[in-house]
Amino acid sequence: MSKKVSFVRGFRIPKQEDIDAALGHDALFSNEFKNSFDSLPTPTSDQDWLANYKEKGQTYTKFLDECPYLDDDSSLQKYIYLTLLDNDDRLSLLNINHLIDYTQRFFQTEVKLLPLFTNFIWNKSKRTWICTTKSRNGSTKEITLRTRYDPTSEHSQICVDNVLTLLKRSVPPDARCLVAITLHDFYSSEPDLFIAGLAQGNARVAAFSFFRYDPRLKFGDEFWYDWKMKQTQSKTISKTLLLRSCRLLTHEIGHLLGIDHCIYYNCLMNGSGHLKEDFSQPLFLCPIDMRKLSELAKFDFIQRYEQLLEFCTENQFKDEINLLEKRLEILKNDKEIIETKKNKNSDGEQIQKVKRLKKK
Ligand SMILES: [Zn+2]
Ligand SMILES: [Zn+2]
Repeated sequence: MSKKVSFVRGFRIPKQEDIDAALGHDALFSNEFKNSFDSLPTPTSDQDWLANYKEKGQTYTKFLDECPYLDDDSSLQKYIYLTLLDNDDRLSLLNINHLIDYTQRFFQTEVKLLPLFTNFIWNKSKRTWICTTKSRNGSTKEITLRTRYDPTSEHSQICVDNVLTLLKRSVPPDARCLVAITLHDFYSSEPDLFIAGLAQGNARVAAFSFFRYDPRLKFGDEFWYDWKMKQTQSKTISKTLLLRSCRLLTHEIGHLLGIDHCIYYNCLMNGSGHLKEDFSQPLFLCPIDMRKLSELAKFDFIQRYEQLLEFCTENQFKDEINLLEKRLEILKNDKEIIETKKNKNSDGEQIQKVKRLKKK
């Protein structure tokens, strides 16, 4: 049994009426659909997000008020751009095309790969990573990435803030966001052990590292350079890394699109305080956050789930397949009920019209 830890002082656990209000009473999801989502989990470690942060939650209505992408003048910013900050060798472990494909299905938004950083190499004398960048006007430049290095272990970390600065110069005008991804380890300030990523929503940029998501990695919690990569070969490594990367990337892009942390369900948008908590969180959005996303991308819920199911089946994400199949069945049933009701209503209308005509 995992131990139960209290929520941070002052955190208000949402009651059923708060959850219903957060979704909006005009939402079309059935109770059966809503009940297929688990409720918000109680923290099990002192490090868990809600044991430390007093989140207030973002209702659907609040999202409509806050989200900048719902304004008419932002309709041109329609693409999600990804860019790779790494060399091809390392990235071969992560199936980038699958990650792009998943992101596209998830957000129902076109995802484009932008080649910004090339010739990514280690400079031995400077002990830093260097690469070539391409600016918006097409000119190229060799740049040194701020790097910290430990000579004993020969491990290095790249400063994520430095990457954000570079990204900000290159955001395409039609971008909802520009996200750099890498398998290099990131840090932000000196005391950091590591940082999975950093986003600057108002500048529409973010950078994320999947390095610590590698299932072969063992690391201590005292020194950033204290890690070991087990030299095992297994098919499940790429699969686990892909699943974890899909989760991180969609959570973070969710933030960039204006969706805050969720406190209403066990949900992809729950905050996470450490990797173990992160890995235990679901891959999908709760009904409230899904409704928010549907405002941005105007999709058909059934079609979106079918596309996600196809992806999860191809990549053998077993738990996710079961969940999606169950929810798809409910959504399809609900659709049938709604359509039958609609037909009945329109039959009724016609009969009334006929009656009225007769009276005349
Ligand atoms: Zn978050
Ligand atoms: Zn949620």
